[in-house]
Amino acid sequence: MPTSIISKRLVVFDFDWTLIETDSDYWIAEHFGQEFAQQQQDLFDKVQWTDLQDLLLGQMHQRGVTRQDLEKSLKEIPFAPEMIAALRLMKSQGAELCIISDANTFYIDTILKVHDLDQLFTKVITNPGHFDKDGRLRIKRYHDIDQEPHGCSFPCHVNLCKGRELQKLMDAQEWDQVIYMGDSTNDFCPSARLLKERGDIVLARANLLLEKNIKEHPELVKAKVIYWESPQHAFEIIKSIFNVSNV
Ligand SMILES: [Mg+2]
Ligand SMILES: [Zn+2]
Repeated sequence: MPTSIISKRLVVFDFDWTLIETDSDYWIAEHFGQEFAQQQQDLFDKVQWTDLQDLLLGQMHQRGVTRQDLEKSLKEIPFAPEMIAALRLMKSQGAELCIISDANTFYIDTILKVHDLDQLFTKVITNPGHFDKDGRLRIKRYHDIDQEPHGCSFPCHVNLCKGRELQKLMDAQEWDQVIYMGDSTNDFCPSARLLKERGDIVLARANLLLEKNIKEHPELVKAKVIYWESPQHAFEIIKSIFNVSNV
């Protein structure tokens, strides 16, 4: 008999460089011309990131880039089959899956639908995107400009404190285990919210900024941390966490 049966698991994912094998904002800017990629690079420390994406999408719209063009490009984004298999496995084992991402609703919805994954997620928390009457994609900050700042001392972006959103999910009901998977600086705050006593786990992508942040402040992350090198490696780790073999 198993010594413990974990029934209610919450698994929360970052999106760019965690579920997909690129950053969707960079992908789109590069796809539609070097000038957009260059501007993104020139302005990233001058214009807030979400506002910068909105600005670049406005320029793309002026150049005739349509919703269909954006969809076509998003559909080409690499999504590893092992990561897809891992998601299906976790869902089949009864886990509740959510995304907290600094991309936007349009990119994420489009990409999840291409791979028939949209039904797997209970919640997608990200910057809202919508097409205006002229067919231009507008991106707004998740925590909008007129809302009070989240005041987080961790390196969270002004538009989204992922830790605060993870905390809301964790507080909404009782969980037997919470797993957070991410790669970057803004994934540190949610990683620091996980609980050791509950057996929570951080799945941090190896050799990227989240690993660096955790190793700089190991005292702030109480949960067990497992570093994963690739989607293939992540799938193996997830199978062992869920006690599933032969998949
Ligand atoms: Mg990421
Ligand atoms: Zn935060």
